[in-house]
Amino acid sequence: MTDADCIFCKITAGEIPSTKVRETKRVLAFRDLHPRASTHVLVIPKDHYANVAELTAADPALAGEVLAVAAEVAAEEGVAESGWRLIANTGPHSGQDVFHVHFHVVGGKPLGPMVA
Ligand code: C5P
Repeated sequence: MTDADCIFCKITAGEIPSTKVRETKRVLAFRDLHPRASTHVLVIPKDHYANVAELTAADPALAGEVLAVAAEVAAEEGVAESGWRLIANTGPHSGQDVFHVHFHVVGGKPLGPMVA
């Protein structure tokens, strides 16, 4: 399942370069191009789903795999103990820019209170 116009589908296909930090058969983790912290990794399913709701409705097992990879990335990045944040922007009010579901793994500094 891919979307020809989707930048993250192109990253998954290797058509656009990325700095991969972890890859499984169905999940890819790569460094955010514009990191907001020393650890800023995006974790995505390789299949194209626009957001968390679409992913979980279609393939909850895959959603679980994505979360497991996010936790593995945090451990590998050395932020498991100091703490990290998992962010999935969803829809206009969140500022979601890329409509291929992705989880930001952010850590490496005190992140402050969550903004709601
Ligand atoms: O959650 P949101 O959709 O706003 O985040 C998209 C993220 O994808 C941004 O943090 C942006 O820096 C990142 N990005 C990237 N590589 C690209 C395009 C976007 O890391 N080629």
